[in-house]
Amino acid sequence: MTTLFIADLHLEPACPARTALLLAFLQRQARSADALYILGDLFEAWIGDDDDAEPGPTVAAALRTLTEGGVPVFFLHGNRDFLLGERFAAAAGLRLLPESGVIDLAGERVLLLHGDTLCTDDRDYQAFRAQVRNPVWQAQMLALPLTQRRALAGQLRESSRQATGQKAAEIMDVHQTEVERIMRLHGVQRLIHGHTHRPAIHDGLLDGQPARRAVLGDWRDDQGNVLRCDGFGWRLESLTLSGG
Ligand code: MN
Repeated sequence: MTTLFIADLHLEPACPARTALLLAFLQRQARSADALYILGDLFEAWIGDDDDAEPGPTVAAALRTLTEGGVPVFFLHGNRDFLLGERFAAAAGLRLLPESGVIDLAGERVLLLHGDTLCTDDRDYQAFRAQVRNPVWQAQMLALPLTQRRALAGQLRESSRQATGQKAAEIMDVHQTEVERIMRLHGVQRLIHGHTHRPAIHDGLLDGQPARRAVLGDWRDDQGNVLRCDGFGWRLESLTLSGG
């Protein structure tokens, strides 16, 4: 069994190379996998499934080719693409996951998250998150005309960029206490998430038992990142357009 995990591609019209890297990955490595999990921030912004601007349609078609070829693809929302909905999921053949969920991976219980909820030191962001994950707020947002949503998304990204630039690096990393709390809550010794753009596999102990937390890497124009879990263990691998 080979299961692949990716996150934080942040696809956007201005960066076609990153989309090309994903398309190559979906045609090569992903085709021989047993399942692919996308743990959020596939897109840099998502203002509603009725927006047919690229790269949405191209990505949906490529995912559909993969899922119709027999590789199930699961998607969990990130802090950028939390408005991605059933319509896009149906077009792409994706199965939408809840914001936190436990899967069985080769007999082990593994918790999957985007990772933003682990950054509990970032109080401003957590307040913002509570607002935008509220179904009432989301329904109001999706009822606005597309042009208005595009403008609002631009403003949100700009204020996020400014806020992020002013925050200390440790505030934007995960809080270890929260990592342990959420793992105990779900009764797991294994966690996979993205969001922090600090790819690593952390091995340690939780309540005296071996515990592991894998952090997925973000994608750059010339390099992608994937976590491969198979009979040989868990490995973070780089992807490039030429080789990888
Ligand atoms: Mn994120």
